[in-house]
Amino acid sequence: MEILRGFKDILPDNIDKWQFLETTARNTIESFGFREIRTPILEKTQLFKRSVGETTDIVEKEMYTFLDKNNESITMRPEGTAGVVRAYIDNHLELSSFKKYYYIGPMFRYERPQKGRLRQFHQIGIEVFGIDEPAIDAEVVYINKALLNNLGINNVRIEINNIGCDMCRPNYMDALKSYFEEYRSQLCEDCQKRLYRNPLRILDCKNEHCRLIAKGAPKITSFACETCRSHYDVVKEKLTDFGVDFIENPMLVRGLDYYTKFVFEIITDKLGAQGTVSAGGRYDNLVEQLGGKSTSGVGFAAGEERLIELIEDYPKNRIDFYIANLDVDEYAVQIANKLRGIGKKVYVEYERRSLKSMMKRANRMNAEFAVIIGENEKNNRKVMVKNLFESKQSEYSLEAFLDEVK
Ligand SMILES: [Zn+2]
Ligand SMILES: [Zn+2]
Repeated sequence: MEILRGFKDILPDNIDKWQFLETTARNTIESFGFREIRTPILEKTQLFKRSVGETTDIVEKEMYTFLDKNNESITMRPEGTAGVVRAYIDNHLELSSFKKYYYIGPMFRYERPQKGRLRQFHQIGIEVFGIDEPAIDAEVVYINKALLNNLGINNVRIEINNIGCDMCRPNYMDALKSYFEEYRSQLCEDCQKRLYRNPLRILDCKNEHCRLIAKGAPKITSFACETCRSHYDVVKEKLTDFGVDFIENPMLVRGLDYYTKFVFEIITDKLGAQGTVSAGGRYDNLVEQLGGKSTSGVGFAAGEERLIELIEDYPKNRIDFYIANLDVDEYAVQIANKLRGIGKKVYVEYERRSLKSMMKRANRMNAEFAVIIGENEKNNRKVMVKNLFESKQSEYSLEAFLDEVK
């Protein structure tokens, strides 16, 4: 049997890095007063159409959508924000005074499998509801940066942009439409479609020709309304106050429709063309769009697979004690449980093998100590302890050994 295309097992050899990433993420994000929320992997298809947007690549081409046995169209979540917003509305979380949430988990997109892109990938994200002050946008970026720093990832660039709101974006879209119409025949096939459905997306097309044409396109700065403009300006001030360096990129639009006012991306040069490790922004209309009371929102999502590639140093989990059990199971279990009781990781050997092959195995497991016990040790309540890192061996009474370990 083979695994599905675009899917990947995460094996024990790699798990230390994943655990380091997720523990660091929890600790960092919770240190800012956020709490975890877990939403289902399956949601009604309509949720993503109405939030991510009908004309986005995600909804048009990449969703795992199917009919369940009741003929209801359901989708495996392609991103995390829509589900959290749905949960916020469903559970009347607007009545609670708590506003800051985070999630960690798998997302699914039916993409062409290529380097660095999986069909099941994982994201860490945060969402803040009902805080309109631009300082919170800056805090969201700051948390994202703190997370990267705590993972030892430092060489990144933070790009930001003002993406407009319901008031000003339509005018900007019209201006983009008339600009790109002149170059219609030179645009790639996707962008020719985007021209009438969502010209904003042409700005972040990766096609060489489209990029050249997009360079001369009108900029949002000349269309942004007073609300968007002043919000964006204060976010920039706060970022500077918080000591976050950033670059303004007027081409930054993000592939999801729900963003308003402020968007950002964190980019590295170390991963080639797929350089975005994390991205986010404000979504002031999304809660209302999904049927809730008008409530603002802002957040980010970071790709765990990308972060994993960038993490260099992380603590390695290993076994403390390997019990070389020479046919004295009961005594072995008794010692193992005492060691576990003082917080040690203990592997008990139950397979009947020679001492030599047990030592080999203990070394391969990278255990620090082997505890050798047979009939003789059992009868005298003793243990033979071998330090595998220093190749030293000594005999202890069981009590003296446990005292020593403590
Ligand atoms: Zn505006
Ligand atoms: Zn294009």
